[in-house]
Amino acid sequence: MTVPPTIQALWGHSGPFNDYSRYIRKMYGKRIQKIGLDGGFSCPNRDGTLGHGGCSYCSVASFAPSYQRETPELREQIEKGISFFGSKYGTDSYLAYFQSYTSSHGQIHRLEQAYEIALGHPSILGLNLGTRPDCLEPAVVDLLDKLRSKWGKPITIEIGIESTLDRTLDRIGRGHSFADSCSAIEHLVSHSFDVNGHLILGLPGESRNELLAHAPRLNQLPLSGLKIHHLQVLKGTRLAREVSPRDFLGFSQEEYLDLLMDFIPRLRPNLVLERFINEAPVDQVITPRWGGVMNYAFGAKVVAGLEARGLYQGVWHES
Ligand code: SF4
Repeated sequence: MTVPPTIQALWGHSGPFNDYSRYIRKMYGKRIQKIGLDGGFSCPNRDGTLGHGGCSYCSVASFAPSYQRETPELREQIEKGISFFGSKYGTDSYLAYFQSYTSSHGQIHRLEQAYEIALGHPSILGLNLGTRPDCLEPAVVDLLDKLRSKWGKPITIEIGIESTLDRTLDRIGRGHSFADSCSAIEHLVSHSFDVNGHLILGLPGESRNELLAHAPRLNQLPLSGLKIHHLQVLKGTRLAREVSPRDFLGFSQEEYLDLLMDFIPRLRPNLVLERFINEAPVDQVITPRWGGVMNYAFGAKVVAGLEARGLYQGVWHES
């Protein structure tokens, strides 16, 4: 089964899913690299606002690239990111991605200072903020609105949904419900922000049918894009103490790929898919151990798997 011409026209290519890197290239006319930044923010699930322990699977150390760890100064992080990716890929344009902790949580003047530094850099074309649904109070949304107008650069907000099941959200200690994610997304979209969702596939206690049922629920939300991660049990996390690797091995690559072959066709075609796996440093992963496979390499397997089965994103989506 080939991708219908209407969907090919929507995506701008004939691949089997709505791929983020091709979407960005189409939008800007060239490769744009995301620079992950640590704005020195905290997280309400760690600083006592909601709790102290964090989400059970979270290891902040696992998502800080080396140029972040070496310097807390934002301008330097940006310059180091530019120099790293510029020499690696020859890119000259970037999106600033505040990824670590909760990047809309903190004193409003500190948030403003950090966002201004990023948006004010001439090579930064836009801002992406990773956050929780309960950290977008009116003052923050007003600030984002103001900065978007001031700099004329797009701001995309990535909401950690993680699961559409409240039972799971309770179990992993997220401190918010699925309804909170729905409200936050709808509120941001009403302010004309692009919103992407973040989902973890394989959280403890979710059956295959429950995992697949996330797709139609997410289709109902006004999301522009989706990032999917497989669950990794990382060293030093509460999850590592709660589940024994003997009992919880996680998916093998083949099992996870097989799940995605059932999951992606259920997603609506106009949802841009940014990634499929988590890429924590190998030495921090307890299970599953896939030997450091990178997202781009895994993405190629997803393409091959869908094409071999004659499937594509949206083919099982019921509108
Ligand atoms: S996953 Fe996000 S919200 Fe949860 S503890 Fe980590 S930084 Fe905080």
